[in-house]
Amino acid sequence: MSFKSLGLSDSLLHAINKKGYDKPSPIQEKAIPFILDRKDVLASAQTGTGKTAGFVLPILQILSETRQPKRRPIRSLILTPTRELAAQIYANVKEYSEFLPINSMVIFGGVNQNPQIRELRNGVDVLVATPGRLLDLHGQGKLFLNQVEVLVLDEADRMLDMGFLRDIKRILPLLPPKRQNLLFSATFSKEIKMLAGTFMFEPELVEATPENTAVEKIIQKVYRVDKGRKPALVIKLVKEGDWRQVLIFTRTKHGANRLSQKLEKSGITSAAIHSNKSQGARTKALAGFKKGEIRVLVATDIAARGLDIPLLPHVINFELPNVPEDYVHRIGRTGRAGASGEAISLVGADEADLVRGIEKLLKEKLPSEEIEGFEPKDEPQPAKEAPRRNQNNRNRSGSRPKSGNSGGGNQRSGGGSKGGGNPGNKPGSGGGNRKFKPRRRR
Ligand code: ADP
Ligand code: MG
Repeated sequence: MSFKSLGLSDSLLHAINKKGYDKPSPIQEKAIPFILDRKDVLASAQTGTGKTAGFVLPILQILSETRQPKRRPIRSLILTPTRELAAQIYANVKEYSEFLPINSMVIFGGVNQNPQIRELRNGVDVLVATPGRLLDLHGQGKLFLNQVEVLVLDEADRMLDMGFLRDIKRILPLLPPKRQNLLFSATFSKEIKMLAGTFMFEPELVEATPENTAVEKIIQKVYRVDKGRKPALVIKLVKEGDWRQVLIFTRTKHGANRLSQKLEKSGITSAAIHSNKSQGARTKALAGFKKGEIRVLVATDIAARGLDIPLLPHVINFELPNVPEDYVHRIGRTGRAGASGEAISLVGADEADLVRGIEKLLKEKLPSEEIEGFEPKDEPQPAKEAPRRNQNNRNRSGSRPKSGNSGGGNQRSGGGSKGGGNPGNKPGSGGGNRKFKPRRRR
């Protein structure tokens, strides 16, 4: 399958070629024909599988095929939860539309609105936006959505997690009732399907499991260590392993700042990104990290969500996330595009329950070890509170009767990925993450 055989125009093929893509990714292959067919599409595939091009390319094709209305109204609206994602999608739209007469722009909060208002006046075909600023500018009469032909909710699961449901519900009535709706998400939770049910028309369901190699090559490890010694252990790992590009997750913004400062003091270049940082600071940090000027990027889950960081060899969970699904998203930052990666979790005595929650979700035990000189001394905590697994009711699939480690049955060919492996292989499906397993409708 090639991009050409999907029916994309020469201008788009030219741009795709310039990006260096050889062939469509599985989700692109599945979603693009439906979108070109003007169907509503509900699509799910893991982070890093090329969902953006999966909707942007066919939208550009559709918009350039039909006649341009005179006053250049907004014809496609792409909603996304964070500023970083908005900026990233916009950058992609720009690249893919380089050889087309299509105007695009991005709006998000946290920056002065005036330049955005000025740019809107020039006429915009494709608008990428975060919900808050969009509603804000709409309320001020600075933009109109009554000519939108294609709506995209990107990273819809995260939007729900971040509490954007109300904003989404306020935005929908501003759009014309007859339009094409696309919803992209890393997961197909019950909530996502419910949301889809409220505004989509007979959507086509498309799903792609990650290519086996990408996920299988992620080696996951747990290092048991006392909380207070985690920064020293990070420094040791980074320095002794001579790691050049490391993404570290912390649970809090404050924790991200503190760790980043400690790393800097020890001579490791580092930056923290989280929602309290200005947009400029976040963009700069990410750019520095990508260029290799910043060795360690410390991020909170929300800030890191969806960031396009190619070929990341090392991810460290400084603390485990409260929600096991976030663990899957975090480790999805490594081993992208078939490159191998290592995801290390530093686990204190108080985090044992969180490990169990993650293992239950993955249906696999995480190999755990101690590092010499960092043997834990803290007392293990009694399992008091149940892990807050279903806090957001994400991915709840009712009863899961199978016990955690189903062992041999679904192990692929033995060797290789020691202790790593694919989170939640299911037998007979050629791999893929259980979390992204197609959920049959009755
Ligand atoms: P997602 O939204 O699924 O997390 P992105 O759309 O951000 O993923 O794409 C992840 C990376 O893959 C980006 O760097 C993008 O340029 C690249 N990419 C997208 N489509 C292809 C393709 N067909 N071939 C190679 N790389 C691709
Ligand atoms: Mg995406």
